Amino acid sequence: MIIGSHVSLSSPDYFLGSVKEALSYNANALMIYTGAPQNTFRKSTSDFKISEAKMLLSEAEIPAQHIIVHAPYIINLANTLKPETFDLAVDFLKKEIDRTRQIGAKIIVLHPGSHVNAGEDIGLNRIVEGLNLALADNDDIEIALETMAGKGSELGYRFEHLAYIKEAVDKPHLIKVCMDTCHMSDAGYDVFRFNDLLDEFDKIIGLQHLRVIHLNDSKNEPGAKKDRHANLGYGQLGFDFLHMVASHPRLASIPKILETPYVDDLPPYGVEIEMLRSGVFTDWISQ
Ligand code: FE
Ligand code: FE
Ligand code: ZN
Repeated sequence: MIIGSHVSLSSPDYFLGSVKEALSYNANALMIYTGAPQNTFRKSTSDFKISEAKMLLSEAEIPAQHIIVHAPYIINLANTLKPETFDLAVDFLKKEIDRTRQIGAKIIVLHPGSHVNAGEDIGLNRIVEGLNLALADNDDIEIALETMAGKGSELGYRFEHLAYIKEAVDKPHLIKVCMDTCHMSDAGYDVFRFNDLLDEFDKIIGLQHLRVIHLNDSKNEPGAKKDRHANLGYGQLGFDFLHMVASHPRLASIPKILETPYVDDLPPYGVEIEMLRSGVFTDWISQ
């Protein structure tokens, strides 16, 4: 089982600290934001302790494909109303591609963007335009577009949106996908018929383009379009479903990343990873 979580990247050890945090959860995959997820301020990677982190990763036999970078969620490539928002997103993504290469990772998860009421087709075409600019000088780092909940004017809540973007860009071979279990349920997909869902994904996008799974329970009922993650077994999806996804034979080579909420200011990932590996749920959060 390839399983990990979102881990922090902060002073003083930065990326080395991220790897240590992942190992403390008995993870063999990890996801980082290269700075705060809600802003675009970034420290120089010269502070990241990259070579020490790489040594630790190779000792732990964690390959590059299991190290995921998540772009900050405020960048919006779909914005047609404010040119500066779009330009910032393109510029940030170019720099994020460089940072990703420097830390030795290969995949950036990206929220496709929100059309802010300009209309879905206009938003999707703007994303294509933005990706073409951001990927112009890149031929190795992949962008995994995330399946979204459909909150507000968010695009990417249908597999067809992601397929459209992939087919329309100049470099389709660099466009991959990240499935988020909470978001797919929120978007209205019947995730409990999971094999059918994988078949549909395969038909529309191609299962070979799936790179990451965000494994989250959901606080809300299917179709709610709210995007509120719950701890494993404490939401509408349930532990048995999430364990089934984590151990699914068709997804064996795909890293599963937890983005579940902290409990009493502490990360839940050590416990949740242990439950997924053992297949046994323990009611560990006092309600
Ligand atoms: Fe995300
Ligand atoms: Fe996610
Ligand atoms: Zn989410």
